[in-house]
Amino acid sequence: VRVHVRVLELRTSERFQIVDITRELERIVEESGVKNGICVIHAPHATAAIVLNEHEQGLLRDILGKLRELFPPDAEWLHNRIDDNAHAHVASAFIGSTRVLPVVNSRLVRGTWQNVFFVEMDGPRSRREVLIEVLGE
Ligand code: ZN
Repeated sequence: VRVHVRVLELRTSERFQIVDITRELERIVEESGVKNGICVIHAPHATAAIVLNEHEQGLLRDILGKLRELFPPDAEWLHNRIDDNAHAHVASAFIGSTRVLPVVNSRLVRGTWQNVFFVEMDGPRSRREVLIEVLGE
């Protein structure tokens, strides 16, 4: 079994922000040499998430708008007694910070309208990481 691990480093500039990491992922899968297997995409952060969807500007704004509506930063969160980012923790807990995609014939399997996004919910941050592990043969 071949195991290929890379860490993508990101910088975010907004409190809520979506960063498309599809191109980098495809490059990492290609350089891994893995023909068939899986690709684990993990953001080791409690206030961010990984999602798949279409890269269309209106839709990305819809997603960010819904995040603010469902997880409003100014709500009376208990965690905000010690920190000011409870909304981002709760959103990350519900959305999830890991996704797994199949790799078939040396390609990441995703739909035409499925890009992979890092979702910042407690930015701006000078350094965020996404760990990519490609496993297979
Ligand atoms: Zn916190």
